[in-house]
Amino acid sequence: MSPAISFFAQVNRNFDRAAALTTYARGILEQIRAINGVIHFTFPIKRDDGSVEVIHAWRAEHSHHRLPTKGGIRYAEAVDEDEVKALAALMTYKCAIVDVPFGGAKGGVKIDARTYSTEELERITRRYTFELFKKNFIGPSLDVPAPDFATGPREMAWIADTYATLAPQDINALGCVTAKPVAEGGIHGRVEATGRGVFFGLREACDVVQDMAALGLEPGLQGKRVVVQGLGNVGYHAAKFIEEDGQAVIVGAMEVEGAISKPEGIRIEELMEHRRATGSILGFAGARDLERRELGLELDCDILVPAALENAITMDNVAAVKAKIVAEAANGPVSSEASDYLFEHGVMVLPDAYINAGGVTVSYFEWLKNLEHVRFGRMVKRFEQRSARGMLAAIEKATGHVFTEDEACRFARGPEEIDLVNSGLEETMIDGFHQIREMRKRQGDRIDLRTASMVVAIDKIATTYSDRGIFP
Ligand code: NAD
Repeated sequence: MSPAISFFAQVNRNFDRAAALTTYARGILEQIRAINGVIHFTFPIKRDDGSVEVIHAWRAEHSHHRLPTKGGIRYAEAVDEDEVKALAALMTYKCAIVDVPFGGAKGGVKIDARTYSTEELERITRRYTFELFKKNFIGPSLDVPAPDFATGPREMAWIADTYATLAPQDINALGCVTAKPVAEGGIHGRVEATGRGVFFGLREACDVVQDMAALGLEPGLQGKRVVVQGLGNVGYHAAKFIEEDGQAVIVGAMEVEGAISKPEGIRIEELMEHRRATGSILGFAGARDLERRELGLELDCDILVPAALENAITMDNVAAVKAKIVAEAANGPVSSEASDYLFEHGVMVLPDAYINAGGVTVSYFEWLKNLEHVRFGRMVKRFEQRSARGMLAAIEKATGHVFTEDEACRFARGPEEIDLVNSGLEETMIDGFHQIREMRKRQGDRIDLRTASMVVAIDKIATTYSDRGIFP
């Protein structure tokens, strides 16, 4: 099911289409589109049986218009230079769309992480970090990785520790990587940030009465039928918030082992428990196992959330997609041609560069926390609590109404770090959606949200070049 052109060519195709709607000088547009730096390197690691294996790895820094650059590290057998470049470019546009002041980057290690022991993965991660360090491709002011497919807080802690060991004079060393465990300089809310952001973005899109009417749907996320592909970090959390906070109904799910359908609704926590216990989502109580896992993409639903890998929907299967809204929780899950097809057939695609930007947004908050060397909320929590208590007391005195202790606790609660993180994330996703929607409106609704988001990104990056000029 591979598309006609490569992933990077698809991203550039989307870029070119958006660039054609702007009036920026050709050279500036070429500079925005170009990969500013990419390295491919190999290194040996010792396997547990004593044998030596050569590992292929990449890091691409797409845009230095702002530093540091930022982007995840992916462990997958399919990793190659084209993929890393495409994902790095997407990161540039993503950061611009949601006003995260970073350039885009991406890293990849060509391994199937499931076939290595924890010790082997640690050696690979540390050696990869060492190679990035040697080449000036990592540092709090240079390039700041994060997790992606098959990597998580554990790998990020190894990266932070390796960097700090190599750069003991760098007082901001912890800011060299984000999505670390909270005890190692991470931030509350980062693990679930991308999925929570998908929920905020979907909720905002579904609340626009006019847009829902155009899709033939009722406004509001509540009650909408949702299918999720991939129940990893992004897919699981997206499904959880969509179900629990959004009151939507998860009617189908896909994982590597297969796909299931249950129109009455899948409780996502129960499904995860079933998968932990049996090793599979198949055989879940009350659900139907589908013949092939890809058939999950074709289930009858309102919203499809592909949250696994790129090119899940291509020209080979797009005509069978029944959803009215596709939220690209993964990067590049809908090929460029398939995305055009969906637009022409009246389907709303919430593009990856916007809808999965919650992760990088909270990574930005974590980086700020690392540079500040203090937890968000620590300085203000008690002060705000006391001020609000004083205000409540004044209201009680003026009105004679006495608040219950429960009300007083709710109204006069100083913010915890997680409250501030989620508030910043919510604001970012709401604001980002309306920036894109407004841009589409300005273009007379002739373009899809992907092209609109790309125009928003190009505008912001071009402004940076125009304000700062070109060195030297
Ligand atoms: P992950 O490794 O935690 O989860 C991916 C899940 O997809 C796994 O459970 C895997 O078994 C499943 N999967 C793989 N192939 C599948 C298939 N063909 N059908 C169904 N399921 C399949 O990775 P993740 O961090 O959740 O990333 C998923 C996607 O989201 C990637 O495209 C990544 O680039 C993107 N993304 C991740 C983040 C983040 O913060 N982690 C942020 C933005 C975008």
